[in-house]
Amino acid sequence: MENLDIAKFGGTSVGNFEAMQSSYKVVIGNSNTKVVVVSACAGVTNMLVELSSGQCDDKKIDEIIDKLRGIHKEIIDNLDDKEQLSEHIESHLSAIRKETLLANKGSSDQLTDTLVSHGELMSSYLFVALFKHFGTKARWFDVRTIMRTDSKFSKAKPLPDEIRVLARDNLMPLLNEDEIIITQGFIGSNILGETTTLGRGGSDYSAALIGEALDAATISIWTDVPGVYTTDPRVVKNARPIAELSYIEAAEMANFGAKILHPSTMLPAVKKKIPIFVGSSKEPEKGGTWVKETTTTEPNFRALALRKNQTLIVLTSPVMVGATGFLANVFAVFAKYNHSIDLVSTSEISIAVTIDGGTSTSGNVTLSENMLNELRQFCDVHVETNLPLIAIIGNNMSQNAGVITKAFESLKDYSIRMICYGASRHNLCFLLSSGDTSVALNALHSELLEV
Ligand code: ADP
Ligand code: ASP
Ligand code: MG
Repeated sequence: MENLDIAKFGGTSVGNFEAMQSSYKVVIGNSNTKVVVVSACAGVTNMLVELSSGQCDDKKIDEIIDKLRGIHKEIIDNLDDKEQLSEHIESHLSAIRKETLLANKGSSDQLTDTLVSHGELMSSYLFVALFKHFGTKARWFDVRTIMRTDSKFSKAKPLPDEIRVLARDNLMPLLNEDEIIITQGFIGSNILGETTTLGRGGSDYSAALIGEALDAATISIWTDVPGVYTTDPRVVKNARPIAELSYIEAAEMANFGAKILHPSTMLPAVKKKIPIFVGSSKEPEKGGTWVKETTTTEPNFRALALRKNQTLIVLTSPVMVGATGFLANVFAVFAKYNHSIDLVSTSEISIAVTIDGGTSTSGNVTLSENMLNELRQFCDVHVETNLPLIAIIGNNMSQNAGVITKAFESLKDYSIRMICYGASRHNLCFLLSSGDTSVALNALHSELLEV
């Protein structure tokens, strides 16, 4: 379909009736928006993750289920057909209770995915009702019929070729009808039809995958800020919106922790060169950011990102002097235990690597003790956890003189555990040992981005 736009609304954009109403206006304001992808109402996924931990007693379960009921009831109270909508939400709440009791007997990533999926299933159902309430035809669509993934529950990998075939068979034919399709972000299903999730914040990724499958002209990510900022505006009050970003800059920002976009969102968009727009559903008139292949300017410094909860592992081996194969052995052990290495720095007898805390839905990312024992067989292992990583994102940083000096100046009061510079022209990373990262971010922002 020509000019097709896929619009995604995050948790705060569907968090209550008023927010849903603003998002509805955004959808009907663009006649090209035919597919709408929604997250769970704000706060709901966190509550469902808590229930899925297997650690909630009866009182806690009642308390959370009451809160969930309250969030959805506020929306229903403003709509027609209250009885039918309440019944629908109640059926989800009783499934949530049942699954929580199962989790208390033994939690698992698969059960967590099933439990959290209720969030998106409920919000999308109520969003359809809101469209109908305002006289716009809309159809609820279960994204699990097209969002095929592998079976790595909690952070499943989407299978784009299969998604394309399924979307063309099951979703494409509906686009010709005079209805807006409303579906869920974040959730998917494996070949057996079991519910999976793409990891926290995954709805952006879902929208991009659907955009790729349907050859959309644009993907719109509607959130609570008018675009991608030079850094998180909640942390640095002088942060400002960026009019345009290249895919690579946006991917670097997302990878290094800018929560505004899920890190994988750019992958499908790049493949089909689909521009991504990021804007505020509450204030669409403020415009936003276009993420696309090329930009008119390529500044050295574009943005800053912060990722907390990094783990540093320093491996030291006296036999490394002049030896070959040490790094290969280390990497093989990490690969065996499925830990993805992030930053790397080496010296004559040691190697330091970092591992990200991760974005899996269950939040389970503990270092495997077996892996550490395997490493200990050929080197000393030293682990430090909970370290913050600040990334400077920009262009040609390793090619231009003086770039690093400015950054060092701003971080002079911090002890820096590790630096990564030179592997990419687009980032410069500092792993700090501790300290107030918001002070560090503000200092770097004023030095590099407020000129
Ligand atoms: P949604 O629920 O709509 O997906 P998120 O909470 O996932 O929204 O992402 C939006 C939030 O991302 C913003 O409220 C902001 O605090 C945070 N954020 C972090 N880095 C940035 C950035 N560089 N630009 C804009 N927002 C950012
Ligand atoms: N609801 C999911 C989460 O909170 C997915 C998303 O919002 O993108 O992580
Ligand atoms: Mg998000």
